[in-house]
Amino acid sequence: MLDSYFMANFARRKTVTSDIAGVRVGSDAPIVVQSMTNTDTADVAATVAQVAALFVAGSELVRVTVNTEEAAAAVAPIVEQLDKQGVAVPIVGDFHYNGHILLKKYPECARALAKYRINPGNVSVGRKDDSNFRTMVEVAVENRKPVRIGVNWGSLDQVLLTRLMDENSRLAEPKDAREVTLEAMVASALNSAKLAEKYGLRPDQIILSAKVSGVQDLIDVYRSLAARCEYPLHLGLTEAGMGAKGIVASSAAIAVLLEEGIGDTIRVSLTPAPGGDRAEEVRVAQQILQSMGIRSFTPQVTACPGCGRTTSTFFQEMAEQIQSYLRQQMPVWRQRHPGVEEMKVAVMGCVVNGPGESKHANLGISLPGTFEEPKAPVYVDGRLFTTLRGDHIVAEFLKILDHYVDSHYATKAREELVTP
Ligand code: SF4
Repeated sequence: MLDSYFMANFARRKTVTSDIAGVRVGSDAPIVVQSMTNTDTADVAATVAQVAALFVAGSELVRVTVNTEEAAAAVAPIVEQLDKQGVAVPIVGDFHYNGHILLKKYPECARALAKYRINPGNVSVGRKDDSNFRTMVEVAVENRKPVRIGVNWGSLDQVLLTRLMDENSRLAEPKDAREVTLEAMVASALNSAKLAEKYGLRPDQIILSAKVSGVQDLIDVYRSLAARCEYPLHLGLTEAGMGAKGIVASSAAIAVLLEEGIGDTIRVSLTPAPGGDRAEEVRVAQQILQSMGIRSFTPQVTACPGCGRTTSTFFQEMAEQIQSYLRQQMPVWRQRHPGVEEMKVAVMGCVVNGPGESKHANLGISLPGTFEEPKAPVYVDGRLFTTLRGDHIVAEFLKILDHYVDSHYATKAREELVTP
């Protein structure tokens, strides 16, 4: 299904290509959107429900934490239930500290996962050798699983960092601490990848990431990583934060790298508000790719910001209702009407820019400004289609929208559809 999406023709960095249970990652494969659950993995029902919600939102890989024996024991039942529900999304296990123990003790967990994430900064904490890392890699080799070597500066290998700091301090012109820390992250990822190959992983079973929480730091780390290896790279600003801050910081960092052809999978690590929707991180990641013209996921609504000509809230409410309607319909439309994700809808506040913007969209509506005649011209494929009046403008516009989707995007037969 991934390959059917539109992909802009921009220069991607050449990498080897990994296969994560059927999802291709790297080189010319579409940039993959991933997410992570925040349920207790040992709670099978809650985790299955959240994975399904992330999948419906469009997540193409979902990571779950595997931090305890109970979590490891729950992985196979989770994957089994997802299969039964038709939720066809590869599940990635996130391991820290004790992954070598859990993967050996729970072989059904090792088999059920589509990929393992190993954090080289904490897999061998307190040890002088790399036997824990080696154990995890050997389990991956035995089960033919890919691995993401995921460095995070919150848990950076302190032995490596200290060594690089010491070496730096002996230089005639030492670099600043930031530069050495970022170099330690890149070195940790590359050294671990080399070790993983030594212990039997093929290059196409390795994906790298090196996450930091600062935008400029992330850009510098990934530029360096991209220049020094051919593994696919997973991008994401770690601990991006809440709301607008998290969205803007993630978008700024990821967009710069994508524009340079760097990045093969992305995750937006948003902190949800209490009771908030975990799937928001999936929608933001999709929106980054779609805004850049890299992939299309959902029809785009062009709405003007409003101004003194739209003093009532009617215009904002209408833009919100149309956006929500598109979001609700997309899980079904995406399968039933391939291509609908490229549709453009304009919702404009008055006639100043309304008709002009509407003509550039597939469908557009221009609402009456405060002192304008109470009518809303609707444009379809650049031409005036009708003019709506009265109290049911939104409902009537949504009917026109439904009809447009039915008549312009091929309809798949019901038996071809797979819905969770
Ligand atoms: S289209 Fe009209 S309402 Fe919207 S910002 Fe422009 S002038 Fe204001």
